[in-house]
Amino acid sequence: MANYNPKSLKAEEFINDGEILETLKYAEENKNNVELIDSLLEKARPKKTELGVTCAGLTHREASVLLACEIPEKIEAMYALAEEIKQAFYGNRIVMFAPLYLSNYCVNGCTYCPYHYQNKHICRKKLTQEEVRAEVIALQDMGHKRLAIEAGEDPVNNPIEYILECIDTIYSIHHKNGDIRRVNVNIAATTVENYRKLKDAGIGTYILFQETYHKESYEALHPTGPKHNYAYHTEAMDRAMEGGIDDVGLGVLFGLELYKYEFAGLLMHAEHLEAVHGVGPHTISVPRLKKADDIDPDQFDNGISDDIFEKIIACIRIAVPYTGMIISTRESEAVRGRALNLGISQISGASRTSVGGYTEEERPHDSEQFDVSDQRTLDEVVRWLMELDHIPSFCTACYREGRTGDRFMQLCKTGQILNCCHPNALMTLTEYLVDYASPETQKVGFELIEKELAKIPKDKVRQIAKDNIEQIKASNRRDFRF
Ligand code: SAM
Repeated sequence: MANYNPKSLKAEEFINDGEILETLKYAEENKNNVELIDSLLEKARPKKTELGVTCAGLTHREASVLLACEIPEKIEAMYALAEEIKQAFYGNRIVMFAPLYLSNYCVNGCTYCPYHYQNKHICRKKLTQEEVRAEVIALQDMGHKRLAIEAGEDPVNNPIEYILECIDTIYSIHHKNGDIRRVNVNIAATTVENYRKLKDAGIGTYILFQETYHKESYEALHPTGPKHNYAYHTEAMDRAMEGGIDDVGLGVLFGLELYKYEFAGLLMHAEHLEAVHGVGPHTISVPRLKKADDIDPDQFDNGISDDIFEKIIACIRIAVPYTGMIISTRESEAVRGRALNLGISQISGASRTSVGGYTEEERPHDSEQFDVSDQRTLDEVVRWLMELDHIPSFCTACYREGRTGDRFMQLCKTGQILNCCHPNALMTLTEYLVDYASPETQKVGFELIEKELAKIPKDKVRQIAKDNIEQIKASNRRDFRF
């Protein structure tokens, strides 16, 4: 554990290679240690408290033992526990969002991404503000309220001023009953000053995937450009938090390095944020490497099977019970369906990964970042979720009420979700159904809402939610949220 220090601000000390290797060794030695595995599952189980529910989570070492375990009954127990934790803190709500690609100009040389600067045949595009408007209206017309904006790294074509202007444009568009109420941002690592500007522009979560925590591989996979700098990239979340952004989203691109290494690194990063800033990551994403314009995933040695992918999701859910988990349309309907029962709390729907993709008719688009597996419409995804007894949520109230960072975690930890997020989800779902859904989806939705209202514990809250839902159905909006 030579230089391992979760409180350090130096990447190589809080993501310490020696500590990860020792963790993997410890996990391998204990992968059949039934007594230890049972005690970890017990430690991680949600417990009732006077205030609500609490969950201890697991350290990166403990969670790595679960990930290494190959005993079928224990894996089943992990999956059941992951679902129990998801239900305890997030209920059956699934937050909906869509990515919005602003520009694919990029100066980096990432070997797995078709936006790398040496790709001379991919069509380069950058949206004008008029085009941003058109894309946002198309997204609002589907019913989206929450976006994640995406851009390549290019200080000349996509400077921070351009990103800020786009955010302003997005928030300014009110088309019919549509509004984008939360803009999350996935752009390259930047300075504290720029993070402060993003915070002032009113962003939700700042998302940055580590791609890989393995320094040597990281440097080989990012041979040129500003992204080559491992420490600058890995320390980005600390700068974001210093700039005032208290919701940050982590992720690794599974397929680039050995998944057990990435898993330990990811959890160490979460532990570091908690140790230094008092709050862990708001979300963790689990992207897997996909085929893209000039990228063949088979050229990379570390692809993972669907079974391993599910195990990773369940083990993350168990280790960091309060962190939201995101799965994108990189995954198929079948994989997403299984992942929903293992702890996922946010999914994208009807995504286009090309610049200008929401206003173009034909697929595939010539500026696309990667192949999208789940190509269903938002209406189809929403209906599918409800048929599986999940509540698609378009709520952004926490963010608007300033319940971010540790204030959100507090809400989660005291189990107030059923009296707050649950009714909000039902009200925003009603808005969606009234404004955008097909008659078939409306039918499924209104029946589900009836059933779900009964789950709200406080009589007064339940009655207010019922009244509001009736008002929304009568097209009488009050935009009320708990
Ligand atoms: N440019 C930003 C940066 O440097 O972090 C991020 C924006 S990029 C549009 C979003 C993410 O897409 C990347 O962080 C990467 O993990 C992922 N990505 C890149 N190539 C991919 C591929 N071939 N398959 C799946 N995901 C990919």
